[in-house]
Amino acid sequence: MPAAWIALGSNLGEPAVQLRAAVNAIGLLAQTRVTARSGVFASSAVGPGQQPNYLNAVICVATELGPLDLLDALQAIEQAQGRERSVRWGPRTLDLDILLYGEQQIRSTRLQVPHPAMAQRHFVLYPLADIYPGDQPLPGLGSLANLLAQCPAVGLTRSTVTLDYDLPHPREPLT
Ligand code: AMP
Repeated sequence: MPAAWIALGSNLGEPAVQLRAAVNAIGLLAQTRVTARSGVFASSAVGPGQQPNYLNAVICVATELGPLDLLDALQAIEQAQGRERSVRWGPRTLDLDILLYGEQQIRSTRLQVPHPAMAQRHFVLYPLADIYPGDQPLPGLGSLANLLAQCPAVGLTRSTVTLDYDLPHPREPLT
């Protein structure tokens, strides 16, 4: 099965909850299995005005969905989690990007893979380094070690949050 790497980001609506819910939803997609999860990293938001910090992570999936079907599925998850809280939290509760899809290099209107901004984003490269095979070049981008060397982790910290699902409390035995 092809391996795809997906970046997750959230800075609204309890980001840790958003990220875990997204990983859960991705794991439930047809013909798709989550095979690796990075640590979670915190970074300050880029952009105008005061914004809460971001939490970011990267996961790897093995999937039979083609790249565009995977994009459709991820956008549906973004919509579902965004819409749920859109009035209260605004539209950017969850951002899902396809970083890599196997060895493919795709340049279509809807989908560009490898993701065009990934080489400049510390909040993508450092989580990716948690789970990406060190000896495997990124298609069209070279070694991850080189990309990391050119992208200092300024303002990026490893969070104590994890992508582990919250386990439900065991039910009290019925008497
Ligand atoms: P954003 O607002 O950053 O979530 O960007 C979403 C738009 O980027 C969508 O219209 C996608 O079609 C497009 N897009 C292009 N390449 C990618 C990619 N590799 N992963 C996710 N979205 C992508």
